[in-house]
Amino acid sequence: MSRTVFLDRDGTLNRDVDFVRSPAQLEVLPGVADALQRLDAAGYRLVVVTNQSGIARGYFDEAMLARIHGELHQRLGGLPLAWLHCPHLPAAVGGYGGDCACRKPKPGLLHQARDLLGVAFAGGALIGDSARDLLPARGLGLRTVHVRSGKPFAAEQAQLRAEGFVPDHEAADLAAAVDWLLARS
Ligand SMILES: [Mg+2]
Ligand SMILES: [Zn+2]
Repeated sequence: MSRTVFLDRDGTLNRDVDFVRSPAQLEVLPGVADALQRLDAAGYRLVVVTNQSGIARGYFDEAMLARIHGELHQRLGGLPLAWLHCPHLPAAVGGYGGDCACRKPKPGLLHQARDLLGVAFAGGALIGDSARDLLPARGLGLRTVHVRSGKPFAAEQAQLRAEGFVPDHEAADLAAAVDWLLARS
């Protein structure tokens, strides 16, 4: 079975602008499209796992998120393979409120990937810019890379330390993270 790299979206693939509410707000970070092509060429399967509580907050709906991901998918050369998101927010009122199993730092989206797509964790990796993005990997045997291209790095690093979580590597951005991963695979 081929190895899988799980990718956070905001701050890892595209600039974190708090909430991307339409395709026009998408700004792909430098080197990302090329980095994904290199992973794909090396035989990795690529899956996005992203919290999108803007849906629970009423900022945009599922149809708009599908348009946003369609646009991003196109700009990234038809990668990644799959896009999994959590639309929930515990504090929200209505259908998307309350606790869920998929909002990161919970591992639900990774479990969905395993159960729905049949991808394995062994030999794989998770790349993200925040503590919340990386903590879902706990105990799953994934390599983890903390990238500096999103949320203020030191604060996220401190949060990871407080959780007793040490990423396997820290990198400037996705391209540097992929350099590191490919040198070890
Ligand atoms: Mg992020
Ligand atoms: Zn959820």
